Amino acid sequence: MRHRIAVVGAGPAGLAFARVLHRHGHPVTVLERDSGPDARPPGGTLDLHEGLGQLALDKAGLLARFQALSRPEGQAMRILDPAGTVLRDWRPRPEDRANPEIDRGHLRDLLLGPLDVRWGRGVTEVVPDTGDGTLVRFADGRQETFDLVVGADGAWSRVRPAVSKATPHYTGVTFVETSLDDVDTRHPGLARLVGDGSVAVYGVNRGLVAQRNSGGHVKVYAQFRAPVDRHTGLDRADADAVRSILLSLFDGWAAPVLDLLRHGTAFVRRPLHALPVSHTWTHVRGVTLLGDAAHLMPPLGAGANLAMLDGAELAESVADGHGALDETVRAFEERMWARAARWASVTTAGLERLVGPDPTEALALFDQVQPS
Ligand SMILES: Cc1cc2nc3c(=O)[nH]c(=O)nc-3n(C[C@H](O)[C@H](O)[C@H](O)COP(=O)(O)OP(=O)(O)OC[C@H]3O[C@@H](n4cnc5c(N)ncnc54)[C@H](O)[C@@H]3O)c2cc1C
Repeated sequence: MRHRIAVVGAGPAGLAFARVLHRHGHPVTVLERDSGPDARPPGGTLDLHEGLGQLALDKAGLLARFQALSRPEGQAMRILDPAGTVLRDWRPRPEDRANPEIDRGHLRDLLLGPLDVRWGRGVTEVVPDTGDGTLVRFADGRQETFDLVVGADGAWSRVRPAVSKATPHYTGVTFVETSLDDVDTRHPGLARLVGDGSVAVYGVNRGLVAQRNSGGHVKVYAQFRAPVDRHTGLDRADADAVRSILLSLFDGWAAPVLDLLRHGTAFVRRPLHALPVSHTWTHVRGVTLLGDAAHLMPPLGAGANLAMLDGAELAESVADGHGALDETVRAFEERMWARAARWASVTTAGLERLVGPDPTEALALFDQVQPS
């Protein structure tokens, strides 16, 4: 029997879900608020882990194409102290494919492939159990009913209230993102500092991380602990004003490190939020959540990976067709919650150590997770 299934959100979770269902010949409606795939900048680079994001791509039949698009050399990682001294310099072995990097835009296009996304369809509310299924209300006033609505609509999910009262809380850490273009030609010194992968510098309650994307693009994240409303001046449109606030926050750090901020163009403030570590809900027939909508956690390299695996696993179970749809979803939720809780604990503790009072903790964390 073919169920009417909709997924809200065309991010890593929603697209992985839809693509695996599509592979199994199961129809699915993808509802996305953005007006098109290029409506906003796609964001930085993602490392996809062998047992998580890469496993999801395998389930979608896309692993070989991912391997051709991804950058194994992007696994390189260098750690400096604020004085600019190199403390660690990890380079991947040529055959190492554990966590290769891929630009988010490339990943999105890979997952999109033949999918028919309904762009510009912002969802405002989901109402379960209407008698004819789950009702979806859209910002333009339209509405439609499905047997299953999958909320893959990220941190500020509009589907989540249908199953849970939880809302994300501020973690105490804010990132400010900026970027450099054409870095090899325009800033060769910074290109060498960043190398093929990432460079990270940790001080007291501060961090500065730069990651190479493809095409000579580098994303820089200034990270610091502060009350959520302390640095609202960073929301100013004036890049010079934002830059000078950031340079004062990182006062005394080595000049080449600060050049990552000096040469940054536009700045975007991102206060980091998270859901409770073990976020679960009482199962509601006809609705579920995936990815950040279900388990938003600090961005320590797991969120997109988990989102994709959630999507791929639920799609496989639904396509499998054994048992009632509701029982399939219920069993999936139990598996997702257990996995997400483990990663949420790890990333929550990790953020405390990375951006905290003792920078040697950040180094110790990398020593634990980097391959020797
Ligand atoms: C700075 C930073 C760096 C990160 N680095 C990594 C990393 O290296 N590795 C990693 O694994 N993770 C990383 N993450 C986490 C990762 O970005 C997220 O976990 C991941 O994007 C979650 O995917 P998702 O599909 O659940 O949600 P999202 O990516 O947020 O996608 C949600 C989609 O839903 C759409 N949407 C939202 N609301 C509605 C609505 N009402 N109606 C219709 N559509 C809607 C949005 O437009 C979007 O397309 C990072 C996060 C940040 C902030």
